[in-house]
Parts: sequence; structure tokens; C-alpha cells
Amino acid sequence: MSTGYNGNPRGNENCCDRGNCQRMNLPSKSGNYNDCYSVHAEQNAMLSASRNEMIGSTIYIAGEKYDDGKGVEIDDTEPCPICFRMIKNSGIDKIVSKKGTLKLDEL
Ligand SMILES: [Zn+2]
Ligand SMILES: [Zn+2]
Repeated sequence: MSTGYNGNPRGNENCCDRGNCQRMNLPSKSGNYNDCYSVHAEQNAMLSASRNEMIGSTIYIAGEKYDDGKGVEIDDTEPCPICFRMIKNSGIDKIVSKKGTLKLDEL
């Protein structure tokens, strides 16, 4: 079993701790994941697991957003496009989230 959460690379302050993420808080407000320095939860979970452990496994994902400093669970959490490709390539078989279960070999 492996776990992961969103965070900037080791040694760098997290966007949420700095209160400044280029993706949402800087003037561009692009919302584009490429503008954020964080490593995604799915990526961190996969970095902490071996390939053998991931083959045929299930990844469970959950997301929370912050509105007025209060955490609110996201109902339609899903991996971003690059995480989705990495999950598919890792050997993980199923993605489970509040939206339901996605079997990767059926896509
Ligand atoms: Zn960020
Ligand atoms: Zn992602």
C-alpha cells in the first residue's frame, strides 16, 4: 500500500503554505496545472510504490478545495490528463473516486 498527497517537491514550500500558487493566485490565474509546481497526489503515491505492487492494483483518489479557508470535498475528483496517463502506464487497474470506479483495461 502506498499513499500520496499534493505538494511541491522536497525542499520547496507548498503553494498552500506560501499562499501563492501561480495556477490560481498570480495575475495569470490560468488554472492550468502546468503553472503549479506541485507534484500531484497520484504521482507521489506512484513514486512510493514499486512497479510490481502497482500491477493490477487500485488507486483511490479524493480531492478537497478550499473556499473561504474551509475545506470542501470535491464530488467529481478525477486525475488530471498527465496523472491519468501515468496511472495507466503504471499497471494500476482501477481508479476509485466519489464519481465511481473506472476500469482502465476497458478504456
Ligand atoms: Zn500550486
Ligand atoms: Zn494530476
